[in-house]
Amino acid sequence: MQELIEALTQRLGPDAVLTGADVTDRYLTDWSSVIGPRPAVVVRPDCTAQVSETMRACSQFGQPVVVQGGLTGLSGGAVPKAGELVLSLERMNRIEEVDTASMTLTAQAGTPLQKVQDAADASGFLFPLDLGARGSCNIGGNISTNAGGNQVLRFGMARNLVLGLEAVLADGTVISAMSKVLKNNSGYDLKQLFIGTEGTLGIVTRAVLRLFPKPKSCCTALVAAQSFADTIRLLQYLGSEFGGSLGKFEVMWASYFDFIITHVNTTRSPFDKQYPVYVLAEIDGASQDADQERFAEALAQAMAEGFVSDAAIAQSERERHSFWSIRDGVAEIGAHTKHSANFDVSVPISRMAEFLARVDRDLNAEFGKATALYFGHIGDNNLHLCAWTGNKSDTQRLYEIVYQATGEFGGSISAEHGIGVLKIPYLKHSRSEAELALMRRLKAALDPKGLLNPGRVVEC
Ligand SMILES: Cc1cc2nc3c(=O)[nH]c(=O)nc-3n(C[C@H](O)[C@H](O)[C@H](O)COP(=O)(O)OP(=O)(O)OC[C@H]3O[C@@H](n4cnc5c(N)ncnc54)[C@H](O)[C@@H]3O)c2cc1C
Repeated sequence: MQELIEALTQRLGPDAVLTGADVTDRYLTDWSSVIGPRPAVVVRPDCTAQVSETMRACSQFGQPVVVQGGLTGLSGGAVPKAGELVLSLERMNRIEEVDTASMTLTAQAGTPLQKVQDAADASGFLFPLDLGARGSCNIGGNISTNAGGNQVLRFGMARNLVLGLEAVLADGTVISAMSKVLKNNSGYDLKQLFIGTEGTLGIVTRAVLRLFPKPKSCCTALVAAQSFADTIRLLQYLGSEFGGSLGKFEVMWASYFDFIITHVNTTRSPFDKQYPVYVLAEIDGASQDADQERFAEALAQAMAEGFVSDAAIAQSERERHSFWSIRDGVAEIGAHTKHSANFDVSVPISRMAEFLARVDRDLNAEFGKATALYFGHIGDNNLHLCAWTGNKSDTQRLYEIVYQATGEFGGSISAEHGIGVLKIPYLKHSRSEAELALMRRLKAALDPKGLLNPGRVVEC
């Protein structure tokens, strides 16, 4: 390792290579519960050529590498394992261009998501990828995990927002496909190799991102319903009434809603009764007053038809914030639970009610006293579950029960957060043996020495 460190210091300069006490605790963990050993070296390239130089040297020395972005990942993929070199994108944080005619923004991979959003906003556009970790996560990490977040229903996941990409392979080869065009059928769409593959096939170094015109208005409603079937009807109804401007559709079952209202003292329900299920829906538009009126009329019609029981439309930004604080209260759950298992699964919407009944039944049969909270981006089939018994020794079984059911219902064990290291044992519930074998073949073809993020996503 010492010889490699000296070679990299010489080629990249001392600012790019941290060793000894300069390797702080920051590089040991992400937002998952996984903590790694202190790496001997952290390499911080400041351009694609330096990433390529680093990988060429690592390939020559047979040195395994873990890639780090903003370290907000929830699956442990960026956490170093013993003997790995950390390659951090933290110095590659420049926005290179906003092309207002093409509506694109070009940025280095280590640029924080919020910086991308702010640059788009300052140029009069919207970059719609948005998640709670926006201040810390990097656009390269978002692309590598195919991040979802709050606006998938209208704009899609990170994959839909990338037009061009540059990546460095395990042997240092630079693949530059920095296209600005939306339609591009000239052969294989190679950028897809690096989107959502969690750094196992290449290191994302730069990207061309899609921008959108900024909506001029936003209407928010908190809606109460008697059943999940009614919320599906509401989703389809609002979709047809407002077309593509239905931006957000978050469902919260009473288990989640009541828990948050009870435990998070900054939240309150606008309703004087309790209901089985709630929806937080948002419509983007062009005129606040006119859109608000249309939204109120549409919800009144839904109430008249019986698939909405009650509805409150936010009359101010403060009220909108108050509705969202119930959904964002998820961040507080950990403070009121012990040893919870947290899930971000996808299940076909047609089978979601049946899936939840099955999970409830299995948890009750196994533990009797398990608590489970259900909520999620239901418009995207994405269900979050938080389950606990209070005993640490039960956590493993909680994961097994939910992932087993997810597979049986044709779902995905990770809708957003990726596989990393934590979900590898459960990937078999979502992927067939043939799919896993193809993933291993792709990995072997692009990284034959197994140097890039080894032991993440698929075991090789
Ligand atoms: C409060 C909070 C809210 C969140 N909300 C959401 C949400 O709504 N939706 C969602 O999808 N996720 C969410 N996440 C998870 C996380 O923020 C995302 O997965 C994010 O995209 C990770 O970006 P990062 O830069 O922090 O990546 P890291 O954590 O640094 O890395 C994640 C993975 O990507 C790899 N990687 C990072 N950068 C690169 C690169 N340039 N090239 C190749 N591989 C790379 C790493 O090796 C690792 O495997 C949330 C996390 C937190 C803490």
